[in-house]
Amino acid sequence: MISGRRFIVNDLRRAQSRWKTFMQPGAPVNTFSPGKPGFSPFEFTTPADFDIIWAMIGVSKLLCGLVTPQDAQRYGRHSSRLPAGLLQFSADKKPIVVWNMTRACNLKCVHCYASASCAADRDEMSTAEAMKMIDDLAAFGVPTLLFSGGEPFLRKDLFELGEYAASKKIRTVISSNGTLIDSPTAKMIKNSGFSYVGVSLDGLRETNDRFRGADGAYDMAMAGIGCCLAEGIRVGLRFTINRSNYEEVPHVFDVMSHNSIPRVCFYHLVYSGRGSELFGESLPLPESRKTVEYIFSRTREIFASGKSVEVLTVDNHADGVLLYLKMLAEDPRRAGEIMTLLKYNGGNNSGIAIACVDWRGFVHADQFWRHKSFGNVRQRPFGDIWTDLSDPLLAGLKNRKGLLKGRCRICKYLDICNGNFRVRAEAVFGDTWAPDPACYLTDEEIGLTGEKLSQPGSGNEIFDFNWSK
Ligand code: SF4
Repeated sequence: MISGRRFIVNDLRRAQSRWKTFMQPGAPVNTFSPGKPGFSPFEFTTPADFDIIWAMIGVSKLLCGLVTPQDAQRYGRHSSRLPAGLLQFSADKKPIVVWNMTRACNLKCVHCYASASCAADRDEMSTAEAMKMIDDLAAFGVPTLLFSGGEPFLRKDLFELGEYAASKKIRTVISSNGTLIDSPTAKMIKNSGFSYVGVSLDGLRETNDRFRGADGAYDMAMAGIGCCLAEGIRVGLRFTINRSNYEEVPHVFDVMSHNSIPRVCFYHLVYSGRGSELFGESLPLPESRKTVEYIFSRTREIFASGKSVEVLTVDNHADGVLLYLKMLAEDPRRAGEIMTLLKYNGGNNSGIAIACVDWRGFVHADQFWRHKSFGNVRQRPFGDIWTDLSDPLLAGLKNRKGLLKGRCRICKYLDICNGNFRVRAEAVFGDTWAPDPACYLTDEEIGLTGEKLSQPGSGNEIFDFNWSK
């Protein structure tokens, strides 16, 4: 078991010291080498290896004291200078772009936000059009391009486009189901300059294959991960938490340990579109909170044992508040640092520092706002679309605090959460600016008491939802 402050002060010193070395300007890159003698499954890698998306809470970084505000300040908090591991703390908030490059997929996942069908869309962007888009992204200063799908390995020009983006100084990463990665493919991933591959896994073998809609998907994904690791490619798991799989979260850590997987992102479910069936799959709020608390404590146990692993939770900024509150009770000085870092991050960044382009070139606020586009990169450069505030949704997302309603409006942690996922609010309440129904924090924790509750339109009563369930 972890013993609070003693754990923080003593057992993390070695890990912090190694991390600081890597955080220095000019630190070496790509030293990750699983084949190296003495390699530990949970060794640190260099900053350049980390995949950072703005919806993520870096549990291991924040909870285990690996990053301080000074680390980001050292680079002026400028996205063109920050290492990838610190990009989420930039001040200029150049957007990371998720490109759903194809609709085609070899699986049929229950929670797929792309609603991918097996076949490619006949109107998908061509290689030449994609290169033009990459030119525009580079001109706008986009730091990272995430190739997603569908299943990106079904597009034959994946490696050509990855190499092209890397030549434009854009960091490139892949999000995949992992089932199509064999040894030659892994070599091509490496040679094309991709710095990270995130592989989706939604439970142990039986659960995963049911979710993925294909027998053998688990084994194929694990084989794909093995091929990546053998090539020295940074790889991590992507696990979407829901009612059917949350009890398998502990086993995900075991799978990581047994397979030398250095990173995991636990995704909260994001339901979008009014009447979304996915809402029924979401975890009840108490279980959601308990699962996040478990992730926190398991991460600390790993670090306390002298190992390290990168653990992130994604798509619920209530996790950042919870992490801050836990640290406040143990170590107020570190809690203050965490608050500063969370403020640098700014909470939900849909429409701000994260963007999505779909396979037909339409630009969205993030990968879940697929039912709303602000323009098409075939017609206008990405930067023009992203900075055009004539669309009320894009303008509202970029500056939303005054538009929010209910508990999010008067929450005392609005600066570090930014109202969480607006697309979830829209799905449940039909109102983009309603509270996020996935927030599991209590009224007391967010300061929703007494006088504030009596302000007109500020309480939960105007939304038919019980946040204590
Ligand atoms: S009440 Fe809203 S703004 Fe506050 S933590 Fe919850 S989701 Fe975020």
